[in-house]
Amino acid sequence: MARRTDFDPIIERNAKYITSMASGVADKVTKDMARGYMHGKRPEELMHDVLQRWPELTEWHARLIARTETSKASTALTKVRAKSAGLDWYVWRTSEDARVRTSHHHMDGVICSWSDPPSPEALIHEKSYGKYNPGEIFNCRCYPEVLLDYGDVSWPHKVYLGGRIRSMTLAAFKRLNGGKDI
Ligand SMILES: [Zn+2]
Repeated sequence: MARRTDFDPIIERNAKYITSMASGVADKVTKDMARGYMHGKRPEELMHDVLQRWPELTEWHARLIARTETSKASTALTKVRAKSAGLDWYVWRTSEDARVRTSHHHMDGVICSWSDPPSPEALIHEKSYGKYNPGEIFNCRCYPEVLLDYGDVSWPHKVYLGGRIRSMTLAAFKRLNGGKDI
């Protein structure tokens, strides 16, 4: 289990994404959502929590916040666990349906690093929202699948590195990791 001290800074940063809310409120919402998520609450329950505390929000907005924050908290937790285990790589996974945005569809199956996440929009020459991991942006249902073993994926494989996606052989990827096991 991740220590709270590891988890909190990520949650705090996530609060900055809720730009449509007054500052201070956004902080509280994000922390509440993360806490709820840690206690196993589902997005629907979180939405009702949001509406109860901030009745001035529309149901649409509350649902958007609950979904987005659940997804961000989930990614934050995966990241903390992976990094504490020394696992720096993950595979970007989408929900693989028609609602996946083009920029994320483009990332589907690509190996990325926690230390250098992509700007999916910049990669397809759209307006960038900055660099982020799967699930860390509004309405995103993508998730990171931590790479536990070189054999988890087929080779050559797409790897995001230094601002672009390239096809890498297993040998090249191993060299990148100093020849060690992941
Ligand atoms: Zn997505």
